[in-house]
Amino acid sequence: MNLTLLGVRGSTAAPGADFVRYGGHTSCVAVSAPGEPPALVLDAGTGLRRLGTLLDGRPFRGDVVLTHLHWDHVQGLPFSGAVDHPESRVRLHVPVPDAGADPLEVLRRAMSPPHFPIGPDELLGEWEFVPLLPGPVALDDDRFAVSARRIRHKGGVAYGLRVAEPGGVQAAYLPDHLLLDGGTDGAAIADGVDLLLHDGQFVASEQLLATAYGHTTVPAALGYADHCRVGRVVLTHHHPDRTDAALDELAAAFPETPGGRPVAFAVQGTTLAVSPKRNVSQ
Ligand SMILES: [Zn+2]
Ligand SMILES: [Zn+2]
Repeated sequence: MNLTLLGVRGSTAAPGADFVRYGGHTSCVAVSAPGEPPALVLDAGTGLRRLGTLLDGRPFRGDVVLTHLHWDHVQGLPFSGAVDHPESRVRLHVPVPDAGADPLEVLRRAMSPPHFPIGPDELLGEWEFVPLLPGPVALDDDRFAVSARRIRHKGGVAYGLRVAEPGGVQAAYLPDHLLLDGGTDGAAIADGVDLLLHDGQFVASEQLLATAYGHTTVPAALGYADHCRVGRVVLTHHHPDRTDAALDELAAAFPETPGGRPVAFAVQGTTLAVSPKRNVSQ
Protein backbone atom coordinates (compact mmCIF):
# COMPACT_ATOMS: atom_id res chain seq x y z
CA MET A 1 0.00 0.00 0.00
CA ASN A 2 1.23 3.46 -0.91
CA LEU A 3 0.04 6.69 0.69
CA THR A 4 0.70 9.77 -1.42
CA LEU A 5 0.51 12.94 0.64
CA LEU A 6 -1.31 15.48 -1.51
CA GLY A 7 -1.95 17.97 1.31
CA VAL A 8 -0.29 18.08 4.75
CA ARG A 9 -1.38 21.47 6.10
CA GLY A 10 -4.06 22.00 8.71
CA SER A 11 -6.73 24.68 9.17
CA THR A 12 -6.04 26.69 6.01
CA ALA A 13 -3.70 26.55 3.05
CA ALA A 14 -0.23 28.07 3.47
CA PRO A 15 1.19 29.53 0.27
CA GLY A 16 4.52 31.36 0.15
CA ALA A 17 8.26 30.95 0.12
CA ASP A 18 8.44 29.78 3.74
CA PHE A 19 6.22 26.76 3.04
CA VAL A 20 7.59 25.41 -0.22
CA ARG A 21 9.38 22.27 0.97
CA TYR A 22 6.72 20.78 3.27
CA GLY A 23 3.89 22.16 1.17
CA GLY A 24 0.88 24.38 1.68
CA HIS A 25 -2.13 22.34 0.55
CA THR A 26 -4.62 21.15 3.16
CA SER A 27 -5.42 17.54 4.09
CA CYS A 28 -5.63 14.92 1.35
CA VAL A 29 -4.08 11.45 1.01
CA ALA A 30 -4.26 9.18 -2.04
CA VAL A 31 -4.12 5.44 -1.31
CA SER A 32 -2.93 3.09 -4.03
CA ALA A 33 -1.48 -0.33 -4.67
CA PRO A 34 2.09 -0.15 -6.03
CA GLY A 35 2.02 0.54 -9.76
CA GLU A 36 -1.73 1.25 -9.76
CA PRO A 37 -3.58 4.56 -9.95
CA PRO A 38 -5.33 5.54 -6.71
CA ALA A 39 -8.94 4.42 -6.28
CA LEU A 40 -9.20 5.59 -2.67
CA VAL A 41 -8.66 9.08 -1.26
CA LEU A 42 -8.80 10.17 2.38
CA ASP A 43 -10.04 13.74 2.84
CA ALA A 44 -10.63 16.33 0.15
CA GLY A 45 -8.72 19.42 1.26
CA THR A 46 -7.05 21.67 -1.29
CA GLY A 47 -4.48 18.91 -1.88
CA LEU A 48 -7.17 17.12 -3.89
CA ARG A 49 -6.26 19.51 -6.71
CA ARG A 50 -3.06 17.49 -7.16
CA LEU A 51 -4.85 14.15 -7.55
CA GLY A 52 -4.76 14.52 -11.33
CA THR A 53 -0.96 14.31 -11.31
CA LEU A 54 -1.29 10.68 -10.15
CA LEU A 55 -3.83 9.82 -12.85
CA ASP A 56 -2.08 11.20 -15.93
CA GLY A 57 -5.13 13.29 -16.71
CA ARG A 58 -7.60 10.42 -16.42
CA PRO A 59 -10.75 10.94 -14.33
CA PHE A 60 -10.84 9.54 -10.80
CA ARG A 61 -12.97 6.47 -10.22
CA GLY A 62 -13.31 5.30 -6.67
CA ASP A 63 -14.02 6.29 -3.08
CA VAL A 64 -13.28 9.52 -1.21
CA VAL A 65 -13.65 9.11 2.56
CA LEU A 66 -13.86 12.30 4.65
CA THR A 67 -12.66 12.25 8.27
CA HIS A 68 -14.90 15.26 8.99
CA LEU A 69 -16.36 18.28 7.26
CA HIS A 70 -14.15 21.20 8.33
CA TRP A 71 -13.16 23.43 5.43
CA ASP A 72 -9.56 22.20 5.31
CA HIS A 73 -10.87 18.69 4.55
CA VAL A 74 -13.45 19.47 1.85
CA GLN A 75 -12.49 22.62 -0.03
CA GLY A 76 -10.68 20.71 -2.78
CA LEU A 77 -13.87 19.03 -3.98
CA PRO A 78 -14.90 21.67 -6.54
CA PHE A 79 -11.33 22.47 -7.59
CA SER A 80 -9.98 19.09 -8.64
CA GLY A 81 -10.21 18.30 -12.34
CA ALA A 82 -9.77 14.61 -11.53
CA VAL A 83 -13.07 14.40 -9.64
CA ASP A 84 -14.98 17.30 -11.21
CA HIS A 85 -14.77 15.62 -14.61
CA PRO A 86 -17.51 14.42 -17.00
CA GLU A 87 -16.19 10.87 -16.78
CA SER A 88 -15.39 10.67 -13.07
CA ARG A 89 -17.21 8.23 -10.81
CA VAL A 90 -16.96 9.17 -7.15
CA ARG A 91 -18.50 7.66 -4.05
CA LEU A 92 -18.12 10.32 -1.35
CA HIS A 93 -18.38 9.12 2.25
CA VAL A 94 -19.69 12.02 4.32
CA PRO A 95 -19.62 12.05 8.15
CA VAL A 96 -23.16 12.84 9.28
CA PRO A 97 -24.44 13.85 12.71
CA ASP A 98 -26.78 10.86 12.96
CA ALA A 99 -27.67 7.80 10.91
CA GLY A 100 -30.80 9.43 9.50
CA ALA A 101 -29.11 12.54 8.11
CA ASP A 102 -28.89 13.05 4.33
CA PRO A 103 -25.16 13.30 3.44
CA LEU A 104 -25.82 15.52 0.43
CA GLU A 105 -27.82 17.99 2.51
CA VAL A 106 -25.15 18.04 5.23
CA LEU A 107 -22.45 18.81 2.66
CA ARG A 108 -24.63 21.38 0.93
CA ARG A 109 -24.70 23.51 4.08
CA ALA A 110 -21.15 24.60 3.33
CA MET A 111 -21.21 24.21 -0.45
CA SER A 112 -24.13 26.06 -2.01
CA PRO A 113 -25.06 29.68 -2.83
CA PRO A 114 -24.45 32.18 -1.35
CA HIS A 115 -21.37 30.48 0.20
CA PHE A 116 -20.29 28.88 -3.09
CA PRO A 117 -21.62 29.10 -6.67
CA ILE A 118 -22.70 25.46 -6.95
CA GLY A 119 -23.89 22.60 -4.78
CA PRO A 120 -22.16 19.20 -4.49
CA ASP A 121 -24.69 17.62 -6.85
CA GLU A 122 -23.61 20.03 -9.61
CA LEU A 123 -20.09 18.61 -9.75
CA LEU A 124 -19.35 16.94 -13.08
CA GLY A 125 -19.35 13.15 -13.35
CA GLU A 126 -21.22 10.45 -11.52
CA TRP A 127 -21.39 11.10 -7.77
CA GLU A 128 -22.83 9.08 -4.95
CA PHE A 129 -23.10 10.69 -1.50
CA VAL A 130 -23.18 8.11 1.27
CA PRO A 131 -23.20 8.57 5.04
CA LEU A 132 -20.02 7.67 6.91
CA LEU A 133 -20.86 5.89 10.14
CA PRO A 134 -18.70 4.02 12.68
CA GLY A 135 -17.50 0.60 11.58
CA PRO A 136 -16.50 -0.92 8.24
CA VAL A 137 -16.81 1.38 5.22
CA ALA A 138 -18.22 -0.16 2.03
CA LEU A 139 -15.81 0.62 -0.83
CA ASP A 140 -16.14 0.13 -4.57
CA ASP A 141 -12.71 -1.46 -4.67
CA ASP A 142 -11.85 -4.54 -2.59
CA ARG A 143 -8.09 -4.00 -2.72
CA PHE A 144 -8.41 -2.04 0.52
CA ALA A 145 -10.62 -2.27 3.59
CA VAL A 146 -11.44 0.88 5.54
CA SER A 147 -12.99 1.17 8.97
CA ALA A 148 -14.00 4.32 10.83
CA ARG A 149 -14.10 5.17 14.52
CA ARG A 150 -15.33 8.33 16.21
CA ILE A 151 -12.52 10.32 17.79
CA ARG A 152 -12.42 13.52 19.81
CA HIS A 153 -11.90 16.77 17.88
CA LYS A 154 -13.96 19.94 17.97
CA GLY A 155 -17.06 21.07 16.17
CA GLY A 156 -19.00 18.13 14.82
CA VAL A 157 -18.43 14.47 14.14
CA ALA A 158 -14.83 13.42 13.40
CA TYR A 159 -13.41 10.02 12.55
CA GLY A 160 -10.12 8.21 12.62
CA LEU A 161 -9.69 5.84 9.69
CA ARG A 162 -7.90 2.53 9.42
CA VAL A 163 -6.92 1.28 5.98
CA ALA A 164 -5.86 -2.32 5.45
CA GLU A 165 -4.69 -4.38 2.54
CA PRO A 166 -6.61 -7.60 3.16
CA GLY A 167 -4.01 -9.95 4.60
CA GLY A 168 -1.37 -7.23 4.31
CA VAL A 169 -0.16 -3.96 5.77
CA GLN A 170 -2.30 -1.49 7.67
CA ALA A 171 -2.25 2.26 8.21
CA ALA A 172 -4.26 4.65 10.36
CA TYR A 173 -5.11 8.27 9.53
CA LEU A 174 -6.13 10.68 12.32
CA PRO A 175 -5.37 14.17 11.04
CA ASP A 176 -7.52 16.06 13.56
CA HIS A 177 -7.51 14.60 17.04
CA LEU A 178 -7.97 16.16 20.47
CA LEU A 179 -5.40 14.34 22.54
CA LEU A 180 -3.79 15.40 25.79
CA ASP A 181 -0.31 14.17 26.65
CA GLY A 182 -0.79 10.57 27.77
CA GLY A 183 -4.18 10.41 26.04
CA THR A 184 -5.35 7.21 24.36
CA ASP A 185 -8.65 8.31 22.78
CA GLY A 186 -9.80 6.02 19.97
CA ALA A 187 -6.67 3.87 20.19
CA ALA A 188 -8.38 0.81 18.72
CA ILE A 189 -8.41 2.41 15.26
CA ALA A 190 -4.61 2.69 15.25
CA ASP A 191 -3.73 -0.33 17.35
CA GLY A 192 -0.80 -2.20 15.85
CA VAL A 193 -0.83 -0.51 12.45
CA ASP A 194 2.34 -0.45 10.40
CA LEU A 195 2.09 3.31 9.81
CA LEU A 196 0.24 5.99 11.77
CA LEU A 197 -0.42 9.31 9.99
CA HIS A 198 -1.44 11.59 12.85
CA ASP A 199 -2.24 15.15 13.83
CA GLY A 200 0.90 17.00 14.90
CA GLN A 201 -0.36 20.55 14.51
CA PHE A 202 0.95 22.01 17.76
CA VAL A 203 4.13 21.89 19.85
CA ALA A 204 4.30 21.30 23.60
CA SER A 205 4.35 25.01 24.48
CA GLU A 206 1.05 25.41 22.60
CA GLN A 207 -0.88 22.83 24.64
CA LEU A 208 -3.63 25.30 25.57
CA LEU A 209 -4.18 26.21 21.92
CA ALA A 210 -4.09 22.56 20.89
CA THR A 211 -6.81 21.71 23.37
CA ALA A 212 -8.89 24.77 22.51
CA TYR A 213 -8.82 23.90 18.80
CA GLY A 214 -9.32 20.16 19.26
CA HIS A 215 -5.82 19.09 18.24
CA THR A 216 -2.67 17.36 19.45
CA THR A 217 0.86 18.38 20.38
CA VAL A 218 3.82 16.56 18.89
CA PRO A 219 4.81 14.85 22.20
CA ALA A 220 1.22 13.70 22.79
CA ALA A 221 1.05 12.23 19.28
CA LEU A 222 4.33 10.34 19.80
CA GLY A 223 3.14 8.93 23.11
CA TYR A 224 -0.04 7.83 21.37
CA ALA A 225 2.00 6.05 18.68
CA ASP A 226 3.83 4.12 21.40
CA HIS A 227 0.58 3.29 23.17
CA CYS A 228 -0.87 1.96 19.91
CA ARG A 229 2.36 0.00 19.18
CA VAL A 230 2.51 1.27 15.61
CA GLY A 231 5.42 0.55 13.28
CA ARG A 232 6.22 4.19 12.57
CA VAL A 233 4.54 7.56 12.82
CA VAL A 234 4.28 10.42 10.35
CA LEU A 235 2.98 13.71 11.72
CA THR A 236 0.77 15.80 9.46
CA HIS A 237 -1.79 18.61 9.53
CA HIS A 238 1.01 21.11 10.12
CA HIS A 239 0.02 24.47 11.57
CA PRO A 240 -0.37 27.03 8.73
CA ASP A 241 2.26 29.27 10.38
CA ARG A 242 4.81 26.45 10.82
CA THR A 243 7.55 27.30 8.32
CA ASP A 244 9.87 24.86 6.59
CA ALA A 245 12.64 25.93 8.97
CA ALA A 246 10.44 25.34 12.01
CA LEU A 247 9.41 21.91 10.74
CA ASP A 248 13.07 21.04 10.09
CA GLU A 249 13.80 21.91 13.74
CA LEU A 250 10.95 19.71 14.93
CA ALA A 251 12.12 16.84 12.74
CA ALA A 252 15.62 17.14 14.22
CA ALA A 253 14.27 17.29 17.77
CA PHE A 254 11.96 14.28 17.40
CA PRO A 255 13.68 11.57 15.30
CA GLU A 256 11.84 8.84 17.18
CA THR A 257 9.15 8.28 19.78
CA PRO A 258 10.09 7.68 23.44
CA GLY A 259 9.56 3.98 22.63
CA GLY A 260 12.01 4.08 19.70
CA ARG A 261 9.63 4.20 16.77
CA PRO A 262 10.73 6.20 13.71
CA VAL A 263 9.11 9.64 13.35
CA ALA A 264 8.78 11.75 10.21
CA PHE A 265 7.05 15.02 9.41
CA ALA A 266 4.78 14.80 6.38
CA VAL A 267 5.98 16.40 3.15
CA GLN A 268 3.47 17.22 0.44
CA GLY A 269 4.04 15.26 -2.76
CA THR A 270 5.86 12.34 -1.17
CA THR A 271 4.66 8.75 -1.28
CA LEU A 272 4.93 6.60 1.83
CA ALA A 273 5.31 2.91 1.04
CA VAL A 274 3.66 1.15 3.98
CA SER A 275 5.81 -1.83 4.87
CA PRO A 276 5.31 -4.38 7.65
CA LYS A 277 6.52 -3.07 10.98
CA ARG A 278 9.50 -4.63 12.64
CA ASN A 279 8.90 -6.07 16.07
CA VAL A 280 9.01 -3.34 18.68
CA SER A 281 8.57 -4.54 22.21
CA GLN A 282 7.57 -1.29 23.93
ZN1 LIG B 1 -8.23 19.90 9.83
ZN1 LIG C 1 -10.93 19.73 11.92
